[in-house]
Amino acid sequence: MSRYLGSVCKQCRREKEKLFLKGERCFVNCTLDRKRGKNPPGMHGISRVKVSDYARHLREKQKARRVFGLTEQQFRHYFRSAERMKGLTGDNLLKLLETRLDNVIYRLGLVTSRKLARQFVNHGHVLVNGRKTNIPNFQLKVGDKVALKDKFRENVLVKKSLERNPKVPSWLLFDKQNYLGTVVNMPSPEEYSHPIESQLIVELYSK
Ligand code: SF4
Repeated sequence: MSRYLGSVCKQCRREKEKLFLKGERCFVNCTLDRKRGKNPPGMHGISRVKVSDYARHLREKQKARRVFGLTEQQFRHYFRSAERMKGLTGDNLLKLLETRLDNVIYRLGLVTSRKLARQFVNHGHVLVNGRKTNIPNFQLKVGDKVALKDKFRENVLVKKSLERNPKVPSWLLFDKQNYLGTVVNMPSPEEYSHPIESQLIVELYSK
């Protein structure tokens, strides 16, 4: 499946919650804050049909996939990797997603969306442990340091994002002076970027 190119706000409407996919606009002028924006997309948007168990599982998986901007294939790949790790598969899955390089840039508050973070990484503006890294899905570990290249520290999008004083989770340490982030811990469930019931995803893929 190729990358979704339609309206991202529709994805939030489908999941009936803010997924923060559009950057700055999500904080100031969100579609979901408007009355009609709350309806699911499509002419049959408001439906009274009882939600099946399968639909509940599917929606949770779609939500997680959309939050991190992944294709079905990429998401399944993460799931398989999580299965091979020790511990709970659902928890492993979310940890793997949280510690992607593009997500860490976003969680440090350097940009307002994961999409923009991915673009920054793709264009080579990001250093990991002092080395240029242009792989958005680069998996970070405890102790890794992430920084923006000097010339991009003055970038207007970065400045605007930092002006919001975003809350940095405790598993990351951010040195605002040097635009340097450090992974000090693996993320714990309370600090995942989005409330996702990973157990539903595990059950969906186990059917
Ligand atoms: Fe979702 Fe952001 Fe659109 Fe609101 S503005 S519906 S949070 S993408």
